[in-house]
Amino acid sequence: MDRPVAFVTGASSGIGLATTLALAKEGYHVIAAIRNLQKQGEILQPAKKENIQARIQICELDVTKPEKASIVANQVWEEHGRLDILINNAGISVPGAVEEVDFLDWRKQFETNFFGIVYVTKAFLPMLREQKRGQIINMSSGASFLGSPYTAPYTASKCAIEGFSESLRFELLPYGIYVVLIEPGFYQTNILKRETNISPHSPYKADVERIQSFLNRFSNQAKDPRIVGEKIVAISKKKAPRMRYI
Ligand code: NDP
Repeated sequence: MDRPVAFVTGASSGIGLATTLALAKEGYHVIAAIRNLQKQGEILQPAKKENIQARIQICELDVTKPEKASIVANQVWEEHGRLDILINNAGISVPGAVEEVDFLDWRKQFETNFFGIVYVTKAFLPMLREQKRGQIINMSSGASFLGSPYTAPYTASKCAIEGFSESLRFELLPYGIYVVLIEPGFYQTNILKRETNISPHSPYKADVERIQSFLNRFSNQAKDPRIVGEKIVAISKKKAPRMRYI
């Protein structure tokens, strides 16, 4: 295949969806990885409108499943023989007071945002090293350098992504593979609108909700996620090893 190949996790909504469409418009063959195949219409409908549906391949991947990530990566290698950009985008936000977020939720936060990136990256690394080129774009957040109350699990998971990416960057530079961090501010997506596990009896419930609605207000007035998609297209054209983009 002549087209460059991109792999995007969490492609069913928000920034992942916008990035999938932007890369397909740019001429990439995009493998849009989603955990729930029932959501594929969210991608295929707008793609059809833009007449780019033939450039999008839907693939099922829950990033918290390392074995599945390996299977999918091997399939990509067998089918396409190349991977030009890996975009580790899937993420969730678990809000709450530190002592009230139960350990299962703490783990879920890290399992998705941090280990999800480790699993998917690990699965694709053998082929990236073999082809000696490519980009890995990891979705961090402005939260990694600007904390806010009741968001400790999310903020900590994004800081972990930063440390991972910093080291990986130096490990892969000699192989011609560039690791990039994106640290978005506020974009209008579903991330803060999803269900949370805060107990109705929590003394901090009102505070958590105030912060969530404050962040949400920002996010409602915030930028269109397509801006991040376009930024990723621009980054994909740069072969200079710059690390951070806000
Ligand atoms: P959305 O909630 O719209 O998108 C999150 C995506 O991640 C969805 O496609 C969701 O799938 C997917 N996802 C969640 N868990 C998993 C999983 N276990 N396996 C596979 N996919 C999963 O939010 P955003 O677009 O905002 O979030 C995308 C990334 O951008 C996240 O990493 C987020 O932290 C980051 N970010 C967003 C900012 C913003 O202002 N919006 C700011 C800074 C960073 P499903 O539809 O099935 O739930």
